[in-house]
Amino acid sequence: MSLLGTQDDLKVLVETLNFKQKVDRSLQLIREAYDKYGDGLVVANSLGKDSVVVWDLAKKVDPKIKGFIVTTRFKPKETVEFMNQEVVRYPELAVYKNDSEISPELYNVDPDQCCEVLKVEPVKRAVDEMKVTCWVTGLRCTEGRTRTDYKEVEERDKGLIKLNPILIWKEREVWQYLALYEVKVNPLYKEGYRSLGCSPCTRITNDDNERAGRWIGTSKCGGECGIHTRPLKSNLDGDGI
Ligand code: SF4
Repeated sequence: MSLLGTQDDLKVLVETLNFKQKVDRSLQLIREAYDKYGDGLVVANSLGKDSVVVWDLAKKVDPKIKGFIVTTRFKPKETVEFMNQEVVRYPELAVYKNDSEISPELYNVDPDQCCEVLKVEPVKRAVDEMKVTCWVTGLRCTEGRTRTDYKEVEERDKGLIKLNPILIWKEREVWQYLALYEVKVNPLYKEGYRSLGCSPCTRITNDDNERAGRWIGTSKCGGECGIHTRPLKSNLDGDGI
């Protein structure tokens, strides 16, 4: 039976499927979506641990699957170096960036607007230019308070399917996969980070919430940059959900 239309209870699957069953489910989701959407299926690779798992899974389904990276002027140098290495290893990864002028400390004054300009806009451009009909993300529902209501397959923007193939994985299973399959990760994890973003907005914490180190001291603390919450297709009827 196809997983793309499944109504499975994800909260139950998080706790009952074992590691191998989750890997197999993720591979099946990507495979079915690739069969359906072909080159319209593109992986959004943030270079974080979850993204590199999804990228590795996608490469197992078909090495020809393409992806895009969104980077900003505020990414740590380690992330930029890791990005450059990944792009050499995988030329099918396109890099998108917005270099337009913004006020120097917009991340302090209005982090939502900063993310809108530096992150959401390049994603919209990637979706448009790469003719994406199904984008694949590394979202996980156990990652934080803002990520509990997602589905494995959703259509928040009309005409743009979002596939979240590792939605039911736990943080431990992500590291299990990375270790067992010897996938390269951003060296910043060795410093103690659990969730990576731009330098001014990312801290090391011991909080239980995996995303607690993001946007500390702002109203966005532990939250989202907007890529997963804002409409990405503005040229279609409807304004997303
Ligand atoms: S994470 Fe911070 S620096 Fe990066 S785009 Fe968002 S607000 Fe700006």
